[in-house]
Amino acid sequence: MRDRTIEQVTTVVVGAGHAGLAASHFLGDRSIDHLVLERGEVANSWRRERWDSLRLLTPNWQSRLPGLRYEGPDPDGYMTMGEVTEFIERFATASRAPVRTGTQVTSVRRTDGGYHVTTSRGEIRCRTVVIASGACNQPAVPRFTDAVPASVEQLTTFDYRAPAKLPDGGVLVVGASATGVQLAAELQRSGRPVTLSVGEHVRLPRTYRGRDVLWWMDASGVWDQRYDEIDDLTRARRLPSPQLAGTPERTTLDLNALTSMGVELVGRWAAVRDGRALFSGGVRNTFSLADLKMGRLLDTFDEWARTDGQDAEAGPAERPAPTRVPPSTRLQLDLGSGEVRAVVWATGFRPDYRWLDVPALDAKGQLDHKGGVVASPGLYALGLPVLRRRKSTFIHGIEDDAREVIDHLTRYLAVRQ
Ligand SMILES: Cc1cc2nc3c(=O)[nH]c(=O)nc-3n(C[C@H](O)[C@H](O)[C@H](O)COP(=O)(O)OP(=O)(O)OC[C@H]3O[C@@H](n4cnc5c(N)ncnc54)[C@H](O)[C@@H]3O)c2cc1C
Repeated sequence: MRDRTIEQVTTVVVGAGHAGLAASHFLGDRSIDHLVLERGEVANSWRRERWDSLRLLTPNWQSRLPGLRYEGPDPDGYMTMGEVTEFIERFATASRAPVRTGTQVTSVRRTDGGYHVTTSRGEIRCRTVVIASGACNQPAVPRFTDAVPASVEQLTTFDYRAPAKLPDGGVLVVGASATGVQLAAELQRSGRPVTLSVGEHVRLPRTYRGRDVLWWMDASGVWDQRYDEIDDLTRARRLPSPQLAGTPERTTLDLNALTSMGVELVGRWAAVRDGRALFSGGVRNTFSLADLKMGRLLDTFDEWARTDGQDAEAGPAERPAPTRVPPSTRLQLDLGSGEVRAVVWATGFRPDYRWLDVPALDAKGQLDHKGGVVASPGLYALGLPVLRRRKSTFIHGIEDDAREVIDHLTRYLAVRQ
């Protein structure tokens, strides 16, 4: 009697972002019956979890999904959130993905023949599961947020929408990767004094030798580097997003640009003691490391241009000026003084697997997998950092990963007929 209420399907895909939809595209191609379960709507993260002014940092010409590419009038531009949502919706429609929206997966557990999936709208049995629930479900913030005085408003990038929603007065933005530099610039432009706390970061110019820097990542093969060719994969998977912003002017948004706008730089926020934020003093080293790594990457592009015969087409090789080190940086800031009225945590994201009742997480709560193949038979993942290639989490990176992961899943099903 109970079994009759349990739906059966070969594969369940968790999440209808671009990764889950790409999985569905290839499952459909191989005639594998499946369901895509989505707690919200298609492209939910882009609709609900991003701030108003955000644009993609990847150019339009790079926005491609299996069977769909940008064909608008501005290939060098950067999509707004509305445009990204529309692009992903178009993909869902074109690939006729069997998406069930408003269906939260609350548990996935292993059974004899596969997996038992519990959702907010019923039970499903399946042989294989593809986890495409995203890598950025929750903000990652340090433990000491509780020690920040209540007079200072704290926001993560999930709460932040626009400067006008913040109290008047100074803002401390924490984290200088893509999100942090974009928000620091926006808040400074709104007339608020901004202090930016800078830890390890990846510096990149927006354009290099006359082309978008991401053209170089693509063309030189850096983005195609496979997970099993990377020396320190754990580190590569933890790398913060590059300091890039997708603005119509295609300007570089690095620390030099921010200090020119009037943003004050301080070191990494290490602790709160007696109501004071304590910052690390090692900014010179942090800045020079980022400059050094950027230089190495640009060397790689130059070397590729030389060997691939691109030198004549590209502009002359150039190097951005080193990051300016302020004469002195503050080591502490009194959070009770009223100088800072809000803190915006732009310290990264982490996935949420509280619904996964399968022992597949490592000590840090990350999914333990090899190129998207999880140790639990029939369990797969897509959309995680450097899953199979350096480009894995980006929209244009999903096609190759999804094809290979679904190929593996197809073989798995075939040998267990
Ligand atoms: C701020 C920011 C900017 C980015 N900018 C770019 C960019 O410029 N270019 C680019 O290519 N990439 C960018 N990315 C990276 C990447 O493209 C996005 O993170 C993208 O959303 C990842 O797609 P996904 O399908 O893997 O995950 P998501 O889009 O997060 O989709 C996962 C889906 O799973 C659903 N879900 C989660 N848990 C459950 C559950 N238990 N039950 C049911 N459904 C569930 C969610 O609602 C969501 O819809 C950016 C990421 C962030 C955070």
